[in-house]
This record gives sequence, structure tokens and C-alpha cells, in this order.
Amino acid sequence: MKRIQHWIGGANAASTSGRTGPVFDPATGVRQAEVDLASGVDVDAAVATAKAAFAGWRAVSVSRRTEIMFNIRNLVSEHRAELAAILTAEHGKVPTDAMGEIARGLENLEFACGFAHQHKGGYTEQASGGVDVYSIRQPLGVVAGITPFNFPAMVPMWMFATAIVTGNTFVLKPSEKDPSAAVFLGELLKRAGVPDGVFNVVHGDKVAVDRLLEHPDIAAISFVGSTPIARYIYETGTRNGKRVQALGGAKNHMLVLPDADIDMAADAAVSAAYGSAGERCMAVSVVVAVGDAADPLVDAINVRLDKVRVGPGSDPDAEMGPLITREHRDKVVGYLDGARAEGATIVADGRGVRVPDANADGFFVGVSLLDHVRPGMKVYDDEIFGPVLSVVRVDTYEQALRLVNDNPYGNGTAIFTRDGGAARQFQFDANCGMVGINVPVPVPVAYYSFGGWKGSLFGDLHMYGPDGLQFYTRTKVVTSRWPDPATSQVDLGFPQNR
Ligand code: NAD
Repeated sequence: MKRIQHWIGGANAASTSGRTGPVFDPATGVRQAEVDLASGVDVDAAVATAKAAFAGWRAVSVSRRTEIMFNIRNLVSEHRAELAAILTAEHGKVPTDAMGEIARGLENLEFACGFAHQHKGGYTEQASGGVDVYSIRQPLGVVAGITPFNFPAMVPMWMFATAIVTGNTFVLKPSEKDPSAAVFLGELLKRAGVPDGVFNVVHGDKVAVDRLLEHPDIAAISFVGSTPIARYIYETGTRNGKRVQALGGAKNHMLVLPDADIDMAADAAVSAAYGSAGERCMAVSVVVAVGDAADPLVDAINVRLDKVRVGPGSDPDAEMGPLITREHRDKVVGYLDGARAEGATIVADGRGVRVPDANADGFFVGVSLLDHVRPGMKVYDDEIFGPVLSVVRVDTYEQALRLVNDNPYGNGTAIFTRDGGAARQFQFDANCGMVGINVPVPVPVAYYSFGGWKGSLFGDLHMYGPDGLQFYTRTKVVTSRWPDPATSQVDLGFPQNR
């Protein structure tokens, strides 16, 4: 069986742990590979390699690092079909969705190509007599990225592009469920001219993560995953003196006001709820229908569901693939099993979906729509992370807003309306990090930054874009004076401007 190894110092590296984990093809349920699960010793080897590479890499000129980033961008773009095939094989997302993931990741590489402009410090001439003051931004050292299963290429690109172009060296711990994309990216980075040791991959589980969290040579950790683990990463990492940004889970609400274009809102709800089988942290999982919007909206969504083609990535017409694992499929089905008893109406039921041309053991759940959902029901309170859309009916905008703001998560939200004043008020009121106005999945372009509020992000800085540049660098302020016998004198007073 295929064996997926670590990528350390620009080469495959076998684990010393003797432990491996299974990698499935979610469309067939077949175990297709084994991935090495790192021991602490493996993590130490990756960190030591990254540490050894740091001094040389941070000394490489800005223009050369930029040139290498252009090479990375071009190679990832040239090989996007191969990368997409890896994503489909291990994650299960359909090829169009895999290509979309790569396109959004490429934006981050492109942003990193232009980092030099945003990386400039400030300069103050003559801050005091003969004294100039300036600030410079320097890399942190060895930084780590710990990433989730749902974007095995894009989320690593969110992190490593900015991290390495600013002169850090990087250790990536990807999800053990779909680990091959990370190694493929490592191979492309090497071909692009990234020196060995600058970008490393260790596969693994909690053992690897815990070693990264306590390792004295790791300066910073970027994490994306579920909220309980994000909180753990933030608390443990910061306790160990590291800079940490930890992005967690989500329950994204899409408000539909009575004046909205119902067809546009229904198209958006279906795309945002069921794309990638709902396994997106920016998926819409709750539609909040205000007033008269509810009945026509539920009908319009339901009509569209019959046409969603569920199938394996090998089916060129498939729009929605399987879930990541059998356990996760069963968990999602469990929510549907309990929904009626909780008081929800099952409008569309994805249990027992029949998938043309697919192996019966694939981890599929069909599109599911629940109406009359309320807070307090498990289907509302939990992040299901599957193709299940809940509709909550309310009478007023204020009630809808309260749902968004009372929710423990605060990743994304959206409002559908023709009323610019209402949309502007919502943008002002919503306690979320990312807001869409007639845009259901408001993932920011790469020159803004991505991040939620409340239980969706632990830390101060969002990911990628300007916040990413800040996260991966630290400021040094230099105060300088050049020899001038006329102004040189002993002065025991505290430095002051003169
Ligand atoms: P997860 O939290 O289970 O795993 C994320 C990473 O943490 C993986 O690398 C995993 O190996 C590691 N991990 C898992 N359990 C651990 C433990 N006990 N101790 C230490 N490390 C551990 O998340 P997932 O299931 O891979 O991804 C889905 C989750 O990620 C969802 O909650 C989703 O909302 C969230 N997500 C958030 C964003 C965002 O930007 N906010 C983006 C994508 C995914």
C-alpha cells in the first residue's frame, strides 16, 4: 500500500515512530494509503532542519525571495490539475471545487509576490539633533502551521506564502486525513528554488502537535481547525511563549429580508450550504428567513435541491462529493436522525442518498434541508460540517441579528436584501469577522485578511494579507547617530528630543 512520508530538508523522510494512519478514498470507502504519524523525535528533526536553514534564508535578498515566490506561484498554477486530482482522491471534493480551492490559494501566493511593498518600515530623519529613527520588520524564526482536512492546499498556502517570503522557515503539520497535497507542494517549492529546510512537512496527530506546541525553537504557530482544538492550541502555545493565531469552527447565518430577490437568495443559499458538501468553515449552515421571505424561500431552495448532482470526483457532472470519513458521515446522519424529534421539519433528506456510479461504501450524504429550526436544537447549536441547511424563521431584523450576535461563533455572515440602508446597518451591527452583502461566502481576497470573531478565532491577528505579514514578522526600531564631534558629549539624563 502507498506510504506517505514526511518532507524534511527537501526530501521524503520516513518516520521513527512506527505509527501510521489510514488515508481513505472517501468516494469508495477504500483505504488507499498509510501516512506516517510523527513521533516527537520526527518533529524535532524537522524543527532542527528548519532552524539550520533559517540563518541562510533570512539573509537571502528580498528580490531573490520574491523571484522564488513568483516561481512557486507559476509552478502551482502549472500543476493545478495534478494538485486538484490529489485533493479529489483524498478529500473527495469534486474537481471544480478542488480547482476553486487552488485558485483561492494562488491568490495568496500572488499577494506574497508583492510583499516587499508592504514590508517597508518607517523612517524619521532628525528625530533629535543628528539622530534618525527607523523601523524594520524581521522574520520570527521557525514557524509552524497546523491545518484542517477541508482545504489541504489552500490553508497551507494561506500560511506558508507569507511566512517564507518574509524570511521565516516553516514546518507544516497537515491533516492526517488528506496529507499528500502538503508533500506535493513541498516538491513544487523545492523545484521553485526554495532552499532545503525552509519548508518542511511532518504528518501526524496530537503527538506531533503537542511537540510543536512545546518546542523551544518554534516561534509562532498558525492553526486552522475546530474550535475546541483552536482554543487548546492558543492556550498551550501562548503559555509556552509563542505567538499564536488559531482559527476555529463556525455557524454562519445568512439573513434573507422580505425585500430580497428570492431567486438570487435561493441560488446563494444552495451554493453556500452544499458546496464542498458543507465542509467549509464559511459554509452557510443557517438561513434566517425574516417575515414573509420564509415560505417562498424554502420552496425556492427545495426546488433547486433536486438538481444537485451528488457523486464521486470521477463523475464529470458531479457537483457535490462525499464527506471526509465514515465516522463523520455517521455523525452527520445522526443529526438528521434526531432532527424531527427536536421539532424540525425535514424538507429534504440526504440520508440513504443513491449515488450513480459510486461504490456503495463511499461516505456520501445527500443534500438535506431542515425547516422550523430553533436555538436549543442540536442541529442549530452544533457545527454539523455537512450538507445540512437549517432554516430559522423570525419576524423581524432585530430577532435575526440577535441570532447572529448571540451565537458563540463569529466567522462569517451574510445578508440578502435590496435595501442598502438595512445592509449597511447589518454591516455595522454584526459581531462577525466577515460579512457578505448579497454575497453568501465572503472569504476576503488575499490583500485583506481572513478571520472570525468570538469562538472562531483565538489570537489578535487574522490570517494572510496585511495581518499575515504582521503575524510573521516583528518590528525592530533603530535609533542612529553618526559621529559628529560638535554634538558628542556625556549626558546621564534620559534620552530626550533636543
Ligand atoms: P480538527 O480541529 O479536528 O483538526 C485540525 C488539525 O488539528 C489537524 O491537523 C489535526 O491533526 C489536529 N488535531 C486534531 N485533534 C487534535 C488534538 N486533540 N490535539 C492536537 N491536535 C489535534 O479540524 P478538522 O476536522 O480537520 O477541520 C474541520 C474544522 O476546521 C471545522 O470545525 C471547520 O470549521 C474548521 N475550519 C475553520 C476554518 C477557519 O478559517 N476558521 C477554515 C477551515 C476549517
